[in-house]
Amino acid sequence: KSGFVSIIGRPNVGKSTFLNRVIGQKIAIMSDKPQTTRNKIQGVYTTDDAQVIFIDTPGIHKPKHKLGDFMMKVAENALKEVDLILFMINAEEGFGRGDAFIIERLKKINTPVFLVINKIDQVHPDDLLPLIEQYKSLYEFAEIVPISALQGNNVETLIEQIKKYL
Ligand code: GDP
Ligand code: MG
Repeated sequence: KSGFVSIIGRPNVGKSTFLNRVIGQKIAIMSDKPQTTRNKIQGVYTTDDAQVIFIDTPGIHKPKHKLGDFMMKVAENALKEVDLILFMINAEEGFGRGDAFIIERLKKINTPVFLVINKIDQVHPDDLLPLIEQYKSLYEFAEIVPISALQGNNVETLIEQIKKYL
C-alpha cells in the first residue's frame, strides 16, 4: 500500500513534531499514483506493508492578503489529489481563527479528512470531549484521533488508521 497524505493546520499545532517522529527516511518515491500538482514532499514513512508520502499543500490557510479565486482553486486541486488529509489542531487552543476558513475549503473537496487533535498531554481528558463535539458539528471527519506528537501517545494508532485510507 502507498499513498499521499497532506498535513494542514495552523502554525505551531505540531505538524513538524509529528513528521519528525514518524518519518524514518527521506527516499525516492516509489508510488505509482499520479500527481499532477507539484506538492512539496515533507517526508516518507516506510514499513514492510505501507509507504506514506507526507506532503505540504500550500495555500489552504487564510491568506494575509486576499488571494484570487485562481489561487484558491490551485490549493483545492492539490488537496483533491491526495488520498487523505490530516487537519491538525492544538487541543490547548481549541477552535481558533482560521479553522472556519479551512473547514469551508474542505467542504469543497471529497478527500477524506482526519481531525488530529495534538498536544493532549497538555489538557485534561474531560476537556477533549467538548472540543471533539464542536468540530464534529462543523464537518464530517473520517476519523478523529487525539495524539501527543511530542510524547508519542496514540501516534501508532494514527498511523494504523492512515494505512486504511491509502
Ligand atoms: P508546526 O508549526 O505545526 O510545525 O509546529 P511544531 O511541530 O513546530 O511545534 C510547535 C511547538 O509545539 C514546539 O515547541 C513543539 O515542541 C510543541 N509541540 C508539538 N507537539 C506537541 C505535543 O504533542 N505536546 C506538547 N506539549 N507540545 C508539542
Ligand atoms: Mg512546521
